[in-house]
Amino acid sequence: MSPTFSPRMHRSLLAGTALLLAPMGCATSSQVGAARDEAALRTDEPPRVKPKWGLVIHGGAGVISRENLSPEREAAMRAVLTQALQAGHAVLAKGGRSLDAVTAAIRVLEDSPYFNAGKGAVFNHDGVNELDAAVMDGKTRMAGAVAGVRHIQNPIDLARLVMEKSPHVMMVGDGAEAFAQSQGMPLVDAKYFFTEERWQGLQRALEQERAKEAPPTEQGQPSTQGQTPTQGPSPATPAQPSAPGQPPAPPVPSSPGQAPTTPPPSKQPQPGSSLTPGVDPITGDHKFGTVGAVALDQHGDLAAGTSTGGMTNKRFGRVGDSPIIGAGTYADERCAVSATGHGEFFIRYTVARDICARVEYQDLPLPEAASYVINDVLVKAGGEGGVIAMDRQGHVAMPFNSSGMYRGYIGEDGTPTVAIFQQP
Ligand code: ASP
Repeated sequence: MSPTFSPRMHRSLLAGTALLLAPMGCATSSQVGAARDEAALRTDEPPRVKPKWGLVIHGGAGVISRENLSPEREAAMRAVLTQALQAGHAVLAKGGRSLDAVTAAIRVLEDSPYFNAGKGAVFNHDGVNELDAAVMDGKTRMAGAVAGVRHIQNPIDLARLVMEKSPHVMMVGDGAEAFAQSQGMPLVDAKYFFTEERWQGLQRALEQERAKEAPPTEQGQPSTQGQTPTQGPSPATPAQPSAPGQPPAPPVPSSPGQAPTTPPPSKQPQPGSSLTPGVDPITGDHKFGTVGAVALDQHGDLAAGTSTGGMTNKRFGRVGDSPIIGAGTYADERCAVSATGHGEFFIRYTVARDICARVEYQDLPLPEAASYVINDVLVKAGGEGGVIAMDRQGHVAMPFNSSGMYRGYIGEDGTPTVAIFQQP
């Protein structure tokens, strides 16, 4: 059982440690702040944070080690997570709805190239960004989701439009984009989503895939025949956004931002392939990078939202758990969840709804329910990832079974707390 947690008490203890360190020149003030936050959101003794109202966010789970994260990048990511928490808090502090807080926070993360959602989304196998998002209002159980959109700057906003301005819950691809336009939401050029880092991540994933699939040559070396070029055109290559309702543009493989094509049979996933989607073979990085938020507002209402580019090297048309209500995103009147991780597992184990169902039917405290599903059910199944969750009483849970999860929390006192690693 976890001890009851008093953020203020915990912080003052840690601040004492920080004061001891600082004069010795061991840590900068931002490092001290980071260490304090990491300890506050530690996973080995999860805190029982319980604000009257508040917001929790994630920026993806995976193999995230201190060695692989430069101090500059870590600081930049912490700053964006803090900004997202503050954007959500600003809504909640003036009595706004949890739904608005969730979308405000997610928009900040979608606009940042550091996270796999909106700008900076990962590329699919064909060098295209296909984005998924969902939002759910716990009070009304209204939900909206979009999948496979390629020209929507903030997919979370389109998911909300689907919820509020259509009779549907989920819209995909060109139909979703046509709906966006009908609602006055502009389409953006596909190259808006391009980042060199994600492009290189795809190239490494493709190289790894080819190496695994190539039949050995007589010398025992993998064949190079039939390979797709590893270097795509420069980022300046104009994207070819196809108009909603139009068929995809002609195939041009491995070009960032271009319309998807049907992969030739040789590129179809092989049954039993050991390639794990989303893993960078160079860094071993499973950083999925999806973003999400859950919030409890001053009226006692919950909401959840999730936005993602999916998983690097996913096949054209693959949809993960994020936009699937009950899998990656779910909220009702007592529980709200947003997930990140290997989506196929989260879909098959209906992770978000399973957590809330355990709260509802088994009367389990939310942290226990969330931890059980992530650290027991999913671990046994081999599914990597984590969730953020809140209940109506303000209990917060952020379990993950990977080595890290970008995450943060803000309560009514307005103090943002951001953590990344498993161990403080
Ligand atoms: N869950 C997302 C998906 O499978 C990936 C992630 O969380 O980063 O599409």
